[in-house]
Amino acid sequence: MTGVIFDLKRFAVHDGSGLRSTLFLKGCPLRCPWCQNPEGMARTPLLWHNPVTCLRCGTCLAACDRGALTLRDRIHVDRSRCDLCGRCVDACPAAAMDRTGRSIPAEEAAALLLRDRVFFGEGGGVTLSGGEVLSQWEFAREVLALCKKAGADTAIETCLLAPRSVLEALLPVVDHFMIDIKYLDAETHRAVLGADNGPILDNYRHLVKQGADVVVRTPLIPGFTATEENIRAIARFVHETDPDAKYELLNFNPLCRSKYSALEQNYPVQGGALKPAEMERFYEILAREGITNIIKE
Ligand code: SF4
Ligand code: SF4
Repeated sequence: MTGVIFDLKRFAVHDGSGLRSTLFLKGCPLRCPWCQNPEGMARTPLLWHNPVTCLRCGTCLAACDRGALTLRDRIHVDRSRCDLCGRCVDACPAAAMDRTGRSIPAEEAAALLLRDRVFFGEGGGVTLSGGEVLSQWEFAREVLALCKKAGADTAIETCLLAPRSVLEALLPVVDHFMIDIKYLDAETHRAVLGADNGPILDNYRHLVKQGADVVVRTPLIPGFTATEENIRAIARFVHETDPDAKYELLNFNPLCRSKYSALEQNYPVQGGALKPAEMERFYEILAREGITNIIKE
């Protein structure tokens, strides 16, 4: 079984407990406008151009026999012409062109994740992230099963948008679930993210019933999810589902803007990370709704 991945992070400290190795799988059923990993949305590989390191030398234009590149204010990629052959990547003297995404067998993926096993210690392990892990669930299950067989702690970061059967298939090989609930209001969820949240909320209830170890997370995105009304509604639902729920609020990280520039896409989020006082205001809402296991960054 092979999967399509776009990154591997070693010695990660924000993808679960302890020191972890995190593998990023391509493909996602949601369309979050603020996505931190836009290169992970599509299942297929993508061509990146970095205008910061580009020398504007035009070498890539000469290398491309499909006429997919033009040099104006910067290099522009006509993705309808580009077949991802990689000739411009090989020709660029400044490494300003790159392809993101590659196929990899599950055994190789597990070996890469386990390479730093000696550093995992008591709390660490391996994490699968994305994109959306469940969109490549068979690959994910095989990788995680191999990691578990080798004695590693396993975790996934997921939006839980998948059929129940997929969740059932993964339950035996996942030690910890980090799940995103972005909106509780069904209409807003559909309008902003392009999918119903019914299956997500049902799957969360199911995980709780199964006694799975779950951390609920909400990214606080200015102009989108970071409203008192939204956080209050999610906190209320989470507490009603599991009075001992662990809940983490993820502060907005604007660093991903450069990725949108590399893909020639607009990034719709204005402003930067929330200030400590603003974070405190949201933590107070969680506490008022009865959440006692608040995980702070
Ligand atoms: S070859 Fe590389 S450095 Fe030169 S214009 Fe193309 S992307 Fe920029
Ligand atoms: S990957 Fe190939 S087709 Fe696409 S822009 Fe580069 S050289 Fe042209």
